[in-house]
Amino acid sequence: MGIVKRQLALLIWVFIWSGFAIDQLILTFEHLQPRNIYGDKVMIERNGVKFLIDKDLSSNQKIENPPVSCGKKDTWEKDLTFQFDFETSEMKVVFTGNAEDLKGVKRLSLKQNPVSISWKQSGFDYLNYRTINFELDNNNIKIPISISRSKYESPYFVEFIFEAYTGGVGRDLLCYKSNVLSLNSANYTHYVPPKAFFIDGVLSDPHIKYPVIGKEFLDELRYIDEFMEKNSYNYLHPTLPPVEESTVALLHADNGHFLTTEWLVSKSLYIEKITNEIVIGLYGDVLQSDLEHLERLLTAIRVVAPTVKISYSENDRYVTLPIHFAKCTKEFSDMFNDCYDNAAGYFHPDSDPEHGWIWVDSKHVGDFRLSILTHELGHALGLNHNFCQSSVMSYSKFSDDNIYFEHIDLMMLHAIHHPDLQDIVWKGFISTNDYVDQFELDRDKIEEYKEDIATTCHKKPSEYDFLIDLQTRGY
Ligand SMILES: [Zn+2]
Repeated sequence: MGIVKRQLALLIWVFIWSGFAIDQLILTFEHLQPRNIYGDKVMIERNGVKFLIDKDLSSNQKIENPPVSCGKKDTWEKDLTFQFDFETSEMKVVFTGNAEDLKGVKRLSLKQNPVSISWKQSGFDYLNYRTINFELDNNNIKIPISISRSKYESPYFVEFIFEAYTGGVGRDLLCYKSNVLSLNSANYTHYVPPKAFFIDGVLSDPHIKYPVIGKEFLDELRYIDEFMEKNSYNYLHPTLPPVEESTVALLHADNGHFLTTEWLVSKSLYIEKITNEIVIGLYGDVLQSDLEHLERLLTAIRVVAPTVKISYSENDRYVTLPIHFAKCTKEFSDMFNDCYDNAAGYFHPDSDPEHGWIWVDSKHVGDFRLSILTHELGHALGLNHNFCQSSVMSYSKFSDDNIYFEHIDLMMLHAIHHPDLQDIVWKGFISTNDYVDQFELDRDKIEEYKEDIATTCHKKPSEYDFLIDLQTRGY
């Protein structure tokens, strides 16, 4: 079922995202229409520095008429100019009008919008979506512009839109909008590689792909100690009880497609085996508490899944499972992933990045946020949804708000990544028969559990208790 479900999930995604792709394509074609790749601007050179200026200063292209207006017409069309310095990647904003003209204007912003034509950006395009607020207290300001490009992204336009807002009741009202600039690989060279969130001392060195270890002898000793300590968790696997029929039955379960509220129990298993190292990178609106949470999860995973090597890297060259934290606003939703009133996170299975990618809605804080992170990581490690009360993968209305991998989650991870299944790794997947053969399980018993799947929810072997403590320690 694993693969069928996955392919279906993928299909649904392709379907949703292709809707986007068409939208985005249209947008891009609009951009490509004018011969001049800078749209309404021309490039001029002064003292060897290239600037982008309006062809005709009075023709600042309005892309849409907001219902409310602010400022004088001349303020926006003559007195305010944007010049992009291609050498320093700075947007220079020059205001030649009178400060009085800006009365009633509450906020000025430069919106950076990635216009990606492919759905296959692995979420890295989210990093290029931002709003930069600025003030014109000084007539001549410079806004540093940063555009990231990961190895997983195909080239796309990043457009810059100037917006002015006036005060409304409880919120800002858009009162002027104009297209300022469009950058792409043909006219822009300052792309920076995306860097994953990192704070020294939060992740233990053995969880880092290439840890930087001090040159002193004591640093080496400390690293060896930490390495031995973390590795000792990999050897705790045999202290866990053997794989049993109820766990294998639960592996067959999921919720139906389109998120129905009923169990869906598949006939047979097809669990893809993870062979290569998983390298995680957290991107976007990441909090220190996210990284601290990951540290605890990675330690627990060492025990239940000793065959899976997982580490963390700041460098996108090594990352195989990027986790993006971005806020799902209405606008973000329209632009990227249709998340609004729809999803708080998702795991997108993929082969490039090798282990897929995850999005977490960063508007959530506290327990719920950590629960999303654990849940999506659970998917990446092969877990499906269930309707058990106590599971971080639960879709039950009555579920406890689990933040960590619960007993049955850990039991399933233990079964999926069991070292005794290493010998069948060559075929790339695990089937129900493999469990029956390898662990001498009773096939009829598995079928009985599958018939009454909710009965598989209640197992809580005490041998797993320490893993709950491990995940909650320091929390
Ligand atoms: Zn899920």
